[in-house]
Amino acid sequence: MSKPRIAIFDFACCEGCQLQIVNLEEEILDLLGVADVVEWREAMSEQSHQYDIAIIEGSITRPADEARLRVIRNRAEVLVALGACATIGGINKLKNNFELEEVKEYVYGKAAGMPHLETAATKAVDEVVEVDYKIHGCPIDGKEFSYIVRCLLMGKKPEIPEYPVCVECKAKGNPCLWEYGQICLGPVIRAGCGARCPSSSFRCFGCRGYVDDPNVDAAKDVIQKYDLTIADLKSKMVLFGSKQEPTVV
Ligand code: SF4
Ligand code: SF4
Ligand code: SF4
Repeated sequence: MSKPRIAIFDFACCEGCQLQIVNLEEEILDLLGVADVVEWREAMSEQSHQYDIAIIEGSITRPADEARLRVIRNRAEVLVALGACATIGGINKLKNNFELEEVKEYVYGKAAGMPHLETAATKAVDEVVEVDYKIHGCPIDGKEFSYIVRCLLMGKKPEIPEYPVCVECKAKGNPCLWEYGQICLGPVIRAGCGARCPSSSFRCFGCRGYVDDPNVDAAKDVIQKYDLTIADLKSKMVLFGSKQEPTVV
């Protein structure tokens, strides 16, 4: 029986999530035992138009990217968005808060009008094509990547946390940063990182995106306890997936 074929593609991003995959070292060799990686620009020169699983890193920032992504989607049975740039638009979405021409001129100066610098509002992958699975985080967690890919190779549905960061944070016994005046986004952001930031006394700033189905009452209780509003929380969701709307509103 032939092995499932995996292709990894990058769009607008820093490639830090791919680096997390490379850092898996021995685990990558294990995965290669059960799957064929047929295209991965960061790690090999071969290319292929035939693959079963397409993994997409990066956000979609140009019309040409949308066309390329649609071709990939049509070729793949399963499409996975890798990292915050792909899952929620990530840091690249900051651009959408400004006029595009203003942004281009700021970055490229007099060269802003060159044809190859054509740009558009930044989109997450699922704003262009259907996404089957998302691997969250900026950067992703290598172990979570390995788990999700293994599930896909075994034909199993991976379990991706559908509860907020606060659950993991409280399970670790961390003091709540709201007590110390930090507006931590933990009540509305998807867990799975092991509450990495609050465990280091730094507020969650939302890299895993809003949880799909938050416990609205609990989140509102926390917010009201500290005399804040949902708008205060939203104002802190500026770095990742800018203008994304939380479902607690
Ligand atoms: S999600 Fe973060 S680490 Fe991954 S590619 Fe985007 S900016 Fe880089
Ligand atoms: S709000 Fe932040 S610091 Fe407080 S419990 Fe939730 S994740 Fe932890
Ligand atoms: S605590 Fe928040 S910002 Fe930090 S890694 Fe987890 S989801 Fe991302």
